[in-house]
Amino acid sequence: MGSSRNPTDGIGTSTLLRMTLNQQAHCHAPGPDVENLCGGCTECCTTQAVVEIGKPRFTKCAYDDGKGCSHYESRPEGCRQYTCAFIAPGYRDLFHMRSEDRPDKLGLVLYPVLDKKLGPMVIITVSRPGADEAYWGQKLINRLAKKHLVLLVKDEKTSRFVRP
Ligand code: SF4
Ligand code: SF4
Repeated sequence: MGSSRNPTDGIGTSTLLRMTLNQQAHCHAPGPDVENLCGGCTECCTTQAVVEIGKPRFTKCAYDDGKGCSHYESRPEGCRQYTCAFIAPGYRDLFHMRSEDRPDKLGLVLYPVLDKKLGPMVIITVSRPGADEAYWGQKLINRLAKKHLVLLVKDEKTSRFVRP
């Protein structure tokens, strides 16, 4: 893994930085009094690591009941801080994501972060093997890589920066 690209290149990245700094915490909200922005998706509850409950990456969370989080009200801070590009205000438009790009449909989980050394970047985690090589997956990844620093995480051992 490595990159020589300047992460502050491009107007898109500047926008991404502002938005990343201003984002609120997100995760799916299956409770009856909370709007569930995720629909039926629970992809990040498998792809992301949650330190507080000892859940590794690419492992389904024990609290994922298939529709959402069974412990939503008391979910760990890591889950509260997670910002999903598909449901966080602004990112879906910024990244031109279609409704068909919902992570469980597309097989890709998009997560904008502010890295201490590299600055703003988008981490794209493959939740369904081969989704990054499929037509819509490739299209989205390549489009984002033209404007942003993109790290593609394929599995526990494989990740690379994407060059347009
Ligand atoms: S990946 Fe995004 S849309 Fe899917 S469950 Fe996580 S927060 Fe919701
Ligand atoms: S605790 Fe809940 S929100 Fe967090 S990963 Fe598990 S199912 Fe998802």
